Amino acid sequence: MTGIPTATISRLVTYLRILEGLEVQDILRTSSNDLAERAGVTAFQVRKDLAYFGRFGTRGMGYTVPILKRELMRVLGLNQTWNVVIVGMGRLGQAIANYPGASDYQFQYVGLFDVSPDVVGRTVRGLPVRHMDELPEFVRRNKVDMGFLAVPPDHAQDAAQALAGAGVRGILNFAPTVIQPRMLERAGQQEISDEWRAVIVENVDFLAGMKRLAFYILNPHLNAVDTEETE
Ligand code: NAD
Repeated sequence: MTGIPTATISRLVTYLRILEGLEVQDILRTSSNDLAERAGVTAFQVRKDLAYFGRFGTRGMGYTVPILKRELMRVLGLNQTWNVVIVGMGRLGQAIANYPGASDYQFQYVGLFDVSPDVVGRTVRGLPVRHMDELPEFVRRNKVDMGFLAVPPDHAQDAAQALAGAGVRGILNFAPTVIQPRMLERAGQQEISDEWRAVIVENVDFLAGMKRLAFYILNPHLNAVDTEETE
């Protein structure tokens, strides 16, 4: 699987949400036209997105909702447990820890971390907030896969380095800053350090969304609906 557009992965998440909604309504069959309409894309786009991962429907018959849902969950890796730590247990970190939605998808918060004596030692949603000094050993012992970064922007790089150094594979960065992998000088060339090679960083920023919204409200004619890919 190479060269799959990130927009395709985002749409798979949307298709999955639609399928879950259909299942709740006891609708057991769907089609690329139906999925397309509900997702606001074209049927061609739906078929193209799914085709990256295999054949899921029967020509002329469409898709069986529970089967397509199960397959998308498998593709997205949502049929396995993911161990997650939250770093930065201020307002946002606590709100994330207290939000129950993640456990629907087997994302388990196993550890909460901070540096402030105001927070370390407190219990949030049944878990103790630990000091960052404990992070490396905790990550190794608990096979932590992901870290959610909810620290102030000027501490985000250091906290991300701590997560990467401890061996997490994914960082969901809520801080409004660009996380850079650590670079090393090797044989006269800059190379990504070993601990960062396998780390994926995803940024989440609702303020950025608000800024895009402001632009598109002022420039509605530039709000091109994401339909077919041209690449
Ligand atoms: P906050 O000040 O309430 O909490 C930050 C916490 O991080 C504090 O408890 C602090 O002790 C801790 N911290 C500082 N340095 C640390 C380190 N090196 N390691 C571990 N913990 C550390 O801030 P907040 O309002 O919760 O916001 C947190 C971050 O999330 C900020 O960067 C903010 O800009 C960002 N944010 C993003 C979104 C979004 O949509 N992405 C929304 C709100 C806030």
